[in-house]
Amino acid sequence: MDKLVSLAKRRGFVFQSSEIYGGLGSVWDYGPLGVELKKNIKERWWRSMVHERHDIEGLDAAILMHPKVWEASGHVSGFTDPLVDCKQCKNRFRADDPRIKGTPGQPDAQCPGCGSKGTLTAPRQFNLMFKTFMGPVEEQAAVIYLRPETAQGIYVNYLNVLQSSRQKIPFGIAQIGKAFRNEITPGNFIFRTREFEQMEMQFFVKPGSENEWFENWRAERMKWVEGLGIRREKLRWHQHGKDELAHYAKDAYDIQYEFPFGWQEFEGIHNRTDFDLSNHQKHAGKKLEYLDPKTNERFIPYVVETSAGADRTTLVVLCDAYREEEVKGDEASEGGDTRVVLKLKPSLAPLKAAVFPLVNKDGMPELAHKIHDDLRRYFNVFYDDGGSIGRRYRRQDEAGTPFGVTIDGQSTQDQTVTVRDRDTLKQDRVSATKLVDYLTQKLAG
Ligand code: ATP
Repeated sequence: MDKLVSLAKRRGFVFQSSEIYGGLGSVWDYGPLGVELKKNIKERWWRSMVHERHDIEGLDAAILMHPKVWEASGHVSGFTDPLVDCKQCKNRFRADDPRIKGTPGQPDAQCPGCGSKGTLTAPRQFNLMFKTFMGPVEEQAAVIYLRPETAQGIYVNYLNVLQSSRQKIPFGIAQIGKAFRNEITPGNFIFRTREFEQMEMQFFVKPGSENEWFENWRAERMKWVEGLGIRREKLRWHQHGKDELAHYAKDAYDIQYEFPFGWQEFEGIHNRTDFDLSNHQKHAGKKLEYLDPKTNERFIPYVVETSAGADRTTLVVLCDAYREEEVKGDEASEGGDTRVVLKLKPSLAPLKAAVFPLVNKDGMPELAHKIHDDLRRYFNVFYDDGGSIGRRYRRQDEAGTPFGVTIDGQSTQDQTVTVRDRDTLKQDRVSATKLVDYLTQKLAG
């Protein structure tokens, strides 16, 4: 994991937030390559959810919502972790922290921070929502929350979307947006952060049909995840036991990935029943029923949710792509006999190709600039003329760039270039005029 974190910084994928001030706990910034990678993942999700389906609409709800939303949703009372404080060192721990020996609140309990005995308090519930104040007065009545999930913005807009889009149940609403959780045991790079992005879709169905839709969405989501190019043996399902289920869920499955720190969830499929809509109907005093135009039945829809973290999915993609390899042949003599390479699916890669003049003379830079200008109209491409060609290839391997386009002596004679494949290291000679078609074909999928 340390190697991936340092590669992410070196190549401009992810930086620690406010690094010059010593960083801010579990908050990260995406650099030039990271923002492209995450955007490609989000766009792929949006395309598959919204553009390629007739029964799902998009939404972008605000982060700030009426505070009653979070009472109705159960987050004010139920979105908590049990925590214990050490009276000696003042550190705070999750009550289920495996490093705690003994029972917190009892004299035998030992603090995992300072080692003192009998200094840990009995567990208290700690709410994970960030609070702030709306307006000029910092008083209880002005408290609002940064949303801890994007789903509630969908529920409170479900009738607006239904009516304006003229959808009929079953139908879904999809949204990508920021969420905030004051996590107590954050960590593992961008796995668990306090500010993150979710890609959530709520599918509204007739009560009684939710189990079928639940299975349908489980299959769809696994297909989508596999489409990211993730190795199948690194993926598995985990069904929530009774004690793991969130306060709103009747059934839940996580898609887990085998991270370097173990199997962990990065997406959940939840049967949320009519929990949220019924509670909003009650708290807001507004009818949220659906009138079935065919049968004239009125009902509150059930909801099947697919909830993925954009950052965690990015981490899955990065972890799965990271390889250290031995190199043989010409490339070994040019760039060294080992390499670090991100074997990203080409369509997800931040840069699709890099353009290299072999040397900075003999007409090569001019032709290389022209080819770079032509390509950038279609793809995100990079120009690099610094250092040996071997070193330039290696930098792009670390960036996950699938193709290296080199302009050499022959290029200025016959307008052909070599295209090096990141994974096979094989080189094709391609006519410059056919380069866009060649890359388009290779980048599909
Ligand atoms: P965990 O148990 O790991 O905290 P969760 O079960 O609380 O996750 P959900 O509420 O189901 O997670 O959120 C759905 C998705 O949102 C998760 O699968 C994950 O990808 C993402 N997510 C949740 N919390 C965080 C976080 N603190 N940092 C990054 N991503 C997160």
